[in-house]
Amino acid sequence: MSTDSEYSFFESVGKSFDKAASYTKWDDGLLEQIKACNAVYRMRFPVKMDDGTISVIEAYRVQHSQHKSPCKGGIRFSTEVNQDEVMALAALMTYKCAIVNVPFGGAKGGIKINPRALSPYELEKITRRYTSELVKKNFIGPGIDVPAPDYGTGEREMAWIVDTYTSLKPGEIDGLGSVTGKPITQGGVRGRKEATGLGVFFGVREVCHIPALMSKVGLSIGLAGKKVVVQGLGNVGYHSAKYFREKGGSIVIAIAEYEGAIYNPHGLNEQEVFEHRKSTGSILNFPGATNLENSNDALELECDILIPAALENVINKSNADRIKAKIIGEAANGPCTPEADEVFMKKNILCVPDMYLNAGGVTVSYFEWLKNLSHVRYGRMEKRFTENLNSHILGQIETLTGKVVSEQERNFIMNGPNEIDLVHSGLEETMITATHEIVDCWKNNPSIPDMRTAAYVVAINKVATSYAELGIFP
Ligand code: NAD
Repeated sequence: MSTDSEYSFFESVGKSFDKAASYTKWDDGLLEQIKACNAVYRMRFPVKMDDGTISVIEAYRVQHSQHKSPCKGGIRFSTEVNQDEVMALAALMTYKCAIVNVPFGGAKGGIKINPRALSPYELEKITRRYTSELVKKNFIGPGIDVPAPDYGTGEREMAWIVDTYTSLKPGEIDGLGSVTGKPITQGGVRGRKEATGLGVFFGVREVCHIPALMSKVGLSIGLAGKKVVVQGLGNVGYHSAKYFREKGGSIVIAIAEYEGAIYNPHGLNEQEVFEHRKSTGSILNFPGATNLENSNDALELECDILIPAALENVINKSNADRIKAKIIGEAANGPCTPEADEVFMKKNILCVPDMYLNAGGVTVSYFEWLKNLSHVRYGRMEKRFTENLNSHILGQIETLTGKVVSEQERNFIMNGPNEIDLVHSGLEETMITATHEIVDCWKNNPSIPDMRTAAYVVAINKVATSYAELGIFP
């Protein structure tokens, strides 16, 4: 993404880190160690394309921190991939995991390709070769580094990765835990696909229920009726829009894609927009909506909540002062530059930061990894037991009171949890706890300027505590 920022993406992350570090009391050397990327693996490998030519592929895997093992982070396929970007995203993963109490270090991977311009077979060969390069250098494994999907990748690529890994490491009992975001039939967990968007929803919903924050931005409590703009109708944007509309009762007034944006003040249904885009090849000309030929104009619409869910640096020095949203929920990684943050401060816009808000994916990845290590589906052991117990308790209550519980209540009370219930509930708990840890940190230190800095302070304190307690080897 082109930007007028004077800083690279990694420098931007470092700048936010330094700003936050000044609100902590840790040793400068320790802070420098936390900020640095521990290992950067830049690779080039040849792949034979469908037409018989050989392409040299540029790819990266960066492990930012090993204060907890394994490291964790997605793999993106994009022509924009470069070392600086992968390093920045790996650093954000460290802080993200710390904030949501997921016991992993941060990592990230990227392959510099345009997945839309390649055939499935070419993509499979590139993904498998990349995985084998990671295996050769001991850069992947359930206890070492566990990739996941990101921009341009999904379940299909994760299945190729786990198949390559387990083929190269036969007999490794925990091999399925070498990558997350897999299809459910290949060791994936129910709820992973929608996790990041659902987490964005839970996080913003919690923020919107904190009276002090809402009075600060001049909004009423709750999400119902709030006008939402979403940029990007991919995995994260689609699910964010879905939950804001379905669970929050919000009105999604605009959706932006790279070819343009559409606007309807009465609300858009993300599923219908998705179907329209699939059948026509473009988001534009959606029935009942107005076209915005310049996609970025959607970011500047009058709305309550803006959800950038596509790329980094989309809100920067050049457009920040035209943003009219009261709350920005950073669903994408790094969508706002530090210069934009300065503008938000002046305009009293509440920016809910990426590294915590979009942690739903890594949180559910953590649940998937735990499932893979335990070799059992969530709910398998307790669902029937809970249902039998609840049925017995209900029966006793009815006998003792002489009253009968309604059919609807009976079904609700009796229900033993299945995997999706437990995953969604674990995610909800994680996002609520993280929101309050950040907001409490901010409240306890009112000189902290914004929520991003408060989130960084929480992350730095947790990572630094880890280093301080473990000591430095040798
Ligand atoms: P995705 O590939 O599924 O979707 C991205 C969408 O953005 C695509 O539909 C693409 O067409 C659109 N897009 C591209 N350029 C655009 C532009 N200039 N304007 C508007 N739309 C544009 O990717 P995703 O998984 O949804 O990831 C989106 C962002 O969320 C990335 O920043 C990623 O790092 C971050 N993220 C993803 C996850 C996850 O679980 N998938 C987790 C955390 C963070």
